[in-house]
Amino acid sequence: YNFSAGPAVLPEPVLQEAAAEMLDYRGTGMSVMEMSHRSKPYQQIIDEAEADLRTLMGIPDNYKVLFMQGGASQQFAMVPMNLMRNRVADYIVTGQFAKKAWKEAQLFGQANAVASSADKNFTYIPDCSDLPIAENSDYVYICENNTIYGTKFHQLPNTKGKPLVSDVSSCFLSEPVKVTDYGMLYGGAQKNVGPAGVVFAIIRKDALGKVSRYIPTMLDYRTHIDKESMFNTPPVFSIFVMNETLKWLKGMGGVEAIHKYDMEKAKLLYGEIDRNSLFVGTAAEKDRSLMNVCFVMAPGYENLQDEFMSFAKGKGMVGLKGHRSVGGFRASIYNACTVEDVTALTECMKEFESMKK
Ligand code: PMP
Repeated sequence: YNFSAGPAVLPEPVLQEAAAEMLDYRGTGMSVMEMSHRSKPYQQIIDEAEADLRTLMGIPDNYKVLFMQGGASQQFAMVPMNLMRNRVADYIVTGQFAKKAWKEAQLFGQANAVASSADKNFTYIPDCSDLPIAENSDYVYICENNTIYGTKFHQLPNTKGKPLVSDVSSCFLSEPVKVTDYGMLYGGAQKNVGPAGVVFAIIRKDALGKVSRYIPTMLDYRTHIDKESMFNTPPVFSIFVMNETLKWLKGMGGVEAIHKYDMEKAKLLYGEIDRNSLFVGTAAEKDRSLMNVCFVMAPGYENLQDEFMSFAKGKGMVGLKGHRSVGGFRASIYNACTVEDVTALTECMKEFESMKK
């Protein structure tokens, strides 16, 4: 039972498919890893990945889909480099990754923190209905699902007409979104959609080409758009597994179907956290993430933390340790995590409670 925050659990059929094709990808006599990225079979893989993503999310033609490297963290710099035209942007700081992005943007202009939940260790999403968005702001930036704190924007901020840029690393394809609500979405694949090594970005075309600063070639979105994510060697194997994961998701019934499944899992786990007298959730109830479920020992039972961790480990559960800035536990229950996995965890929590009470 893998509850790791990322890299994270992948669908078993995807792993089986990747394993089956490891030595011979569809009669080519070689692995995808050994194949030229300029070859026909590889071109087909990357084209399919884009086409599937477009279908799954209903991405309109005026949005470009990119596959890049550098991790989601590289986007913290690429976003302001490419989009900060007036050198002003508004950031909503809801956790460490939003804070890192905000800090990075300060290298390129005036990055205003227009809202923050730092006062309560990022356990909630601030009210974003009427923020002091700058008149000349180039964009409003959010981290939509805060992997470390287990919070999620269930309502997008009112950007007052400015483009919204969203880091969706840990909630990508977990629920239907309206792509046109965003100027740009991006994330690392290693949580919900594949292995580490590939970053996806969906960018409205008209957001680009307006800045006057010098942008290094590899950090300019237009480079990757012009060359269809093939300016240089793409992370071929990561994109291949991402493509397989997207096909799996289509087979599962698409984003709406997986969203229902994700809600069922989250309900099960939060239900047990709320019922079980030994545990409490750390995120504000209204802002709870469907993907990263954070909880700690209830007051008075803090001394049982290590014991529960070993107990769960003994039942085959890994990746449950909370991030060091929150402590306690975090169960990441991404798309590929099953109801059976979550049930095993809730059973384990119940059993632990009955042992202790
Ligand atoms: N944003 C979010 C929401 C994340 O969860 C992470 C990684 N855990 C990152 C950004 C950074 O991603 P990477 O390690 O790919 O740079």
